[in-house]
Amino acid sequence: MIQQEMLTYQQLDGELNRIERELRKNENFIKRRQYKAASQDCEETIARLDARAADLKTQLAQAQQTVQKITEVIEEHSREIGTLEDVDELNYMNKKLNEQLNELSAVEKEIKRIVREGEDIAQSFDEASSKLPRLVAGYRKCDEEFNKAAAEVKPRVAEIRARQAELKKVIDENIFNVYKKVSDGGLYPVFVPLEEGTRCGGCRMEMPKAAVDAQFAGKSYMRCEHCGRIIFKND
Ligand SMILES: [Zn+2]
Repeated sequence: MIQQEMLTYQQLDGELNRIERELRKNENFIKRRQYKAASQDCEETIARLDARAADLKTQLAQAQQTVQKITEVIEEHSREIGTLEDVDELNYMNKKLNEQLNELSAVEKEIKRIVREGEDIAQSFDEASSKLPRLVAGYRKCDEEFNKAAAEVKPRVAEIRARQAELKKVIDENIFNVYKKVSDGGLYPVFVPLEEGTRCGGCRMEMPKAAVDAQFAGKSYMRCEHCGRIIFKND
């Protein structure tokens, strides 16, 4: 037989578990988590867009510098062409001038691309920035509602804990340690009665009678090999 106080303690833990489960099922608890994930996503998007915008700014500055350099070279070539009379030299310089003009048009295309991407980024940035306050407000509202629900059960939780503290004073320490060890592993209930002399009251596993008798020889409880619960005799 297990101390009645230990069994009552366990029963109270069962009630605490139920309260905890109910809170986790609370609509506001679930929505609060969703709002949190969505606003984190949104913040990450904003940070990514920010970084990309900074990249584009650098690219644009580089492209503008390149345009400046090419323009200078073109002006120089044009001046030289004005002084040339030899046809071969003129052809050669014209070829060089055309090369520069081609490069210039490539850089101008690149600038257009940068500007277009910049516009897309600005639009996405506006979208994300306008979404964020709504998500933050949603989170706050759910948080507030959930805290209300949690506050409602608080007195009962405090009552249970106070009662458990009283019970613990008279519970055999060894039994309590066994209980803690098994329940910390996620099992509830820990102590279950032996049913019909051969069956675990937790997992309903049948055991040979001789094995059960051997386990109980000189002891008030045994461990179920199947589910790990502690089986006690109800007599
Ligand atoms: Zn079992």
